[in-house]
Amino acid sequence: MRNILLKKYSIVGIITLLLVSMVAACSSTLKNETEEKKAQRPIMVQGPMPIEAEHFAKKLEDVKEEKSGDFVFYKGTLDGYPVIVAKTGKGMENTAAATAVAIEKYNPIAIINQGTSGGHDPSLNVFDIVLGQKTVNLGSLKTADKAENQGIDPTIWKPMDLMASEGSAGEDPNAEKPRFYEGDKDLLAAAHAVKETYTKGKVVDGTIGSADVWNNEVDRIKWFHTKYGTSVEEMEGAAAAQIAKAYDVPFLGIRVLSNNKVNGGTYNPNTATANQGYVYEVVKQYISTVSSK
Ligand code: SAH
Repeated sequence: MRNILLKKYSIVGIITLLLVSMVAACSSTLKNETEEKKAQRPIMVQGPMPIEAEHFAKKLEDVKEEKSGDFVFYKGTLDGYPVIVAKTGKGMENTAAATAVAIEKYNPIAIINQGTSGGHDPSLNVFDIVLGQKTVNLGSLKTADKAENQGIDPTIWKPMDLMASEGSAGEDPNAEKPRFYEGDKDLLAAAHAVKETYTKGKVVDGTIGSADVWNNEVDRIKWFHTKYGTSVEEMEGAAAAQIAKAYDVPFLGIRVLSNNKVNGGTYNPNTATANQGYVYEVVKQYISTVSSK
């Protein structure tokens, strides 16, 4: 009788122990999962105009909208990974500020600046996409030294690298060069891996030039193309790249040609949606590599 009772109690004991350890295991996986979620740094996708950001934002899940100043951040997920779409507004100042605010607020793991652009390379057509192996500020220039009545001559202006030193860029001969920001190699690899998914044009590596200027003079465009090797121009990429570099956040510019003055390609706003479709695939691919790290 005593033996039977002992056996009964030890079986109950084992079952209880099993149950307790199962519950403990479960809650610790849950805890790990929430800790992992907490640790996941979001990927940030920037677009200047509504047509360059909202299409991507609509593709995210569980979206919450937040604002800082005029900048709108759509916080959501893609394949369960946090992604934030930022509508920055047009131009260098908006973009630099929106990038700094976003880095301070959301601590992104990587930043993609994307949208429309104008072609500098005659072999590129409207709907082709340029991956910014390099991004450069086309507005950082030093004019020639000329006295009154000696005129203005933009063709002899020199590039000026504001990041060359903390001293005067105007006086520093070492600053007479363009500053190129390199596209991050992992983001570029993700973009290369999904090239074939884009069917509306070709996807090429190139140089993206930025300034608060819309160049319509073909000779001036050719001047940048020869001197800086630009494939396209737009008004944001270099500003975002500069701030991303200041905080050491991986960066890539991805720009679709919406127009190309050099070969008669007229402006087509539908390119903005096409680019977001491609960038969506790039982000998906990048997430698969981040998650397996
Ligand atoms: N034609 C457009 C103007 C957009 S303003 C419209 O009327 O709606 C400029 C924006 O388009 C910037 O965000 C810039 O990044 C991009 N862009 C496209 N093509 C450009 C070009 N050729 N030069 C400069 N920016 C260009």
